[in-house]
Amino acid sequence: MLPLYAWAIAGVYLPSHAPGLSVVTLWAYGAATALLLVASVLVHEFAHAIVARTEGLVVEDITLHFFGGLARMSGEPPTPRSEFRIAVVGPGASFALGVLFLLLDSVFVYGTTLVAEGRVLRHLGIVNLVLATFNLLPGYPLDGGHVLRAFLWRKTGDPLRAMRTARGAGRSIAIALVAVGAYVFLFTDRMTGLWAFSFGVVLLLILGLSDNAWAHGAQAIARVMRRPAVTLEPSTTVHALVHDVLPDHRQTEFLVAAGGRLLGFVSLDALRAVDRDLWKETTVGSFMHPVDETIFVGQLDTVANALAQARSNGIGQVAVIDRDGLIVGSADRSSLERRDR
Ligand SMILES: [Zn+2]
Repeated sequence: MLPLYAWAIAGVYLPSHAPGLSVVTLWAYGAATALLLVASVLVHEFAHAIVARTEGLVVEDITLHFFGGLARMSGEPPTPRSEFRIAVVGPGASFALGVLFLLLDSVFVYGTTLVAEGRVLRHLGIVNLVLATFNLLPGYPLDGGHVLRAFLWRKTGDPLRAMRTARGAGRSIAIALVAVGAYVFLFTDRMTGLWAFSFGVVLLLILGLSDNAWAHGAQAIARVMRRPAVTLEPSTTVHALVHDVLPDHRQTEFLVAAGGRLLGFVSLDALRAVDRDLWKETTVGSFMHPVDETIFVGQLDTVANALAQARSNGIGQVAVIDRDGLIVGSADRSSLERRDR
């Protein structure tokens, strides 16, 4: 992408807008513009990543591709508000950069003899504004698609249906880009047409490739969990656990709950220290880790989310709770992995 872009600036754009430059100067500006463009895209993605972190998500990596970038996160935004914040800050950063480049040109360069520098700055300004605008088109996987999803999620309370709508909107936008791009390519402007056409194709590919994974991972956990949940009362003795529970449930960690409320979890490892003679009077409650947010998910949460949590929370399972905080089910890692495939 870098050499191609440097060539577009050095071989096409500058010769027609700022004629009379030497070959060396042209390519130096070409290279500098290309690097500044990549830096602009990085700023956009870093903005997403930084806000995602403050919202508690883990950012796994950032990929730059021909049409921009992608910050990959594990897990889903916890609320519509956090999804909105993470999505909108990227175009916001691009918009700010665009204004900055245009201001640099109009305040320091415009009207001076630095014609090429001014052209480069103005070009970068416009590209950043275009980047901000395009990313706000309301369809997944564009940032605007996340904004749309956040809005629908907030309105209906259903993150899965909101995602389905945002993906549908993304598909319509991609098809429109392909059609309009082809038309523009044939009848008006080749470069713009080709760009819109291939952007549409890339969006369709991203949607197509993620369709299956989404359809599986996007099932609400409530549809695949075990109910009632597998839990222990805090008053359960070690003796009862070993003789009555373990034969049916071969797991090394157990969720602890009373009256439908999740209290924490207990692991067999911790109980191993208890002397056999004391099994009948020792309760699991006295060896329990108190509840924290890694061991439960909401019933509208996705299978993919629950699986990510079960994999990383150290107990290989999650409790599923309803809106009132009462346990309605549980799911362990291996059954979620079967569902996620
Ligand atoms: Zn973005």
